[in-house]
Formats: sequence, C-alpha cells, structure tokens
Amino acid sequence: MAELWGMNPEELKALMLSWGEPAYRAKQLFKDLQRGLDFDGMTVLSKPLRERLKAEIPVQPVTVLEEHASKEDGTIKLLYGLADKNCVEGVLMRYHYGVTLCVSTQVGCAMGCLFCASTLDGCVRDLTAAEMVGQVLCANRLLKDSGEHVSRLVLMGSGEPMNNYENVLRFIRVVTHPDGLNLSSRRISLSTCGLPDGIRRLAKEGLELTLSLSLHAPDDETRKKIMPIARRYTIQETLDACRAYYEATGRRFILEYALIDGVNADPEDARKLARLLKGYNCHVNLIALNSVKERSLYGANERQIARFIEILESNGISATRRRTMGDDIEGACGQLRKKRLEENG
Ligand code: SAH
Repeated sequence: MAELWGMNPEELKALMLSWGEPAYRAKQLFKDLQRGLDFDGMTVLSKPLRERLKAEIPVQPVTVLEEHASKEDGTIKLLYGLADKNCVEGVLMRYHYGVTLCVSTQVGCAMGCLFCASTLDGCVRDLTAAEMVGQVLCANRLLKDSGEHVSRLVLMGSGEPMNNYENVLRFIRVVTHPDGLNLSSRRISLSTCGLPDGIRRLAKEGLELTLSLSLHAPDDETRKKIMPIARRYTIQETLDACRAYYEATGRRFILEYALIDGVNADPEDARKLARLLKGYNCHVNLIALNSVKERSLYGANERQIARFIEILESNGISATRRRTMGDDIEGACGQLRKKRLEENG
C-alpha cells in the first residue's frame, strides 16, 4: 500500500471501489496525494476514509533526513530516508526559469562507472514509483514557504533509469498527469549511461522527455576505460538508438560529457567528438568532473574546458558548459549518502 503515491487515478478508483467508496473519491485522493497533504489534511475526504488510510498506510514513502543549503547559489542538497532505512540523494537547483529537482531512481547503481560515487557499493534495490514521487513532494514541501515549487526534473540522481524502466515510466506518467502535478514531459530529462533497447523503447512511449546520454568519451576505447557499459554496446549502437529517439519524438538529445584530465579532455578528443557527432540532432553538455581522489580522476581545468568548447563549436557542434552548483555542499553524485554510510560504519 505504500505504493499509493505511485498510483494513477484509474488505479485509485479501483481501490476506492474495493473499499466501498464512491468512484469520485479517486480523483480527490489523487489530487491531495500529489499535493503532498498528509491524510489528516485531506479534509475533502470523509473522516472514516481518512482514518482507514491512516491505519493502512502508517508511513510516508520518503522523508528528508538531511538538508544542506549552499550559501553560494541557493542549491539545496537533500538526503532522503526510505521506509526500509535505505537512503538516497537529491539536489534542488534554482535557476532564473524555475526550480529543477534531481531525482534518484535506485538505491545505489549497478553500472560501475569509474568516476561515480553512487555505484561504489553496487545497486541495493530499485525505487518504487511512489518513492520517486515522494522525492518531488518532499522538495515541494521545502519550497512552499518561499512560494516556489519544482517545475523541472532531471533523472540524474543515483541509479540507472533504464534498469528500473517500469517504475520510472509509472513515475513519469503520474507526475505529468493533469489532475496531479501536471509537469510537462518536455521539462523532464532522463539520463542514461546508454542502453540501446531502453532508449528505443522510450521512443515509443508517446512522451516528449529530453533524453540525455552519458557519453563521456569520443571513442569506444576511452569509454571502456571509464564506463563498463561500453564493453556491452559500442558508441555507434547507442547513438543509433538516440537517432531513433529523435526520429520518433522530434526531440534532439543531449550528450553529457564530464571532462577528465588526461582521459578525455585533450583538443584531439574534442576533434574526435566533433567528427563522431556530425549529422546528429544533439547538444553537448560539458562539465568538469567532480574529482574522485580514490580513483585518481581529476576534473579538467578552465583553460582545457574553454578550448574543448571552442573546438566543438568551430566544428558546428552545439555545446554548453553546465555550471557546477552547490560545490560547497557536496553537491555531486552520491557523496552525501556515501558519507552517511561511512559514518554509520
Ligand atoms: N545512470 C544515469 C543517471 C545517473 S548519473 C546515467 O548514467 O546517466 C547522472 C550524471 O552524472 C551522468 O551523466 C553521470 O555520468 C554523471 N556523473 C557521475 N559521477 C560524476 C562525477 N564525479 N563528475 C561529473 N559527473 C558525474
């Protein structure tokens, strides 16, 4: 029953009918769940129904365990607690056009990317759709006093969304539902390390999600050194799937590229990348790697980044540098959870 927040109005209708409630309760309940109300606050429902909900669903799927606000840019890093005592991370980023929430899709991750802290202990389990919705509701609760709310989502927290496909799609359909949060699918980015079958499947969902591919290398040889997935699929196979995504949805895709000193950040890498991407409807998002000292991987410096962008652009590839936000609060990639796990021994 903790799945309540991940249920759509049709499913809630079946539940309400099975409880002997009228069908119209489903829409009321869906609305109030997605508004983040607790059961006592759902005054539109009858008292006995509220009591039954409270009795059947003793705990919220997600709570906020830690909240770290950046003094520099208003970014808030969150550590969420789940009912089974696992925890996942989230980041709330404030831009002039609204608030973006970075959502986790799994506890940990199985993909093993060398530079990523989320994957260090493997994948513990998938998150349910309700646990993903719960992250959004927690963020909205935090923002309420300042009159803000989450208007964009990036599925870039811990986890590989394609490995938890059904729950991720269920989550997306719930948060884009017009009776609930009503987010536009255009304002949701799904980031993947690149599973071609998943990308092709996503292309057929009738959604307008922004697809982000974590590429991080201009050739297979380099990619294999930092991303195990590159041993299973070639870059070409993956880009073919991205092209199919573009053809089905009309949405250009994004390539994520973290610049790592001595690995993928040389001018020659930029030239290779430009050749690789010629003819695709895509955009490159560059970021300096958040250094992982344990692995001796370090972010490229300002001069290298500027040169890299210059080469891409002069070769007709559109590219921007993603600002790193919340540097002062361990803003990146699994660091907060890792710290907590270490503290708890
Ligand atoms: N599994 C998905 C989504 C989660 S990771 C994926 O691979 O895309 C979100 C993004 O953060 C990915 O682009 C990932 O490659 C990147 N990332 C992970 N660790 C990083 C680090 N130390 N520095 C910069 N980017 C990192």
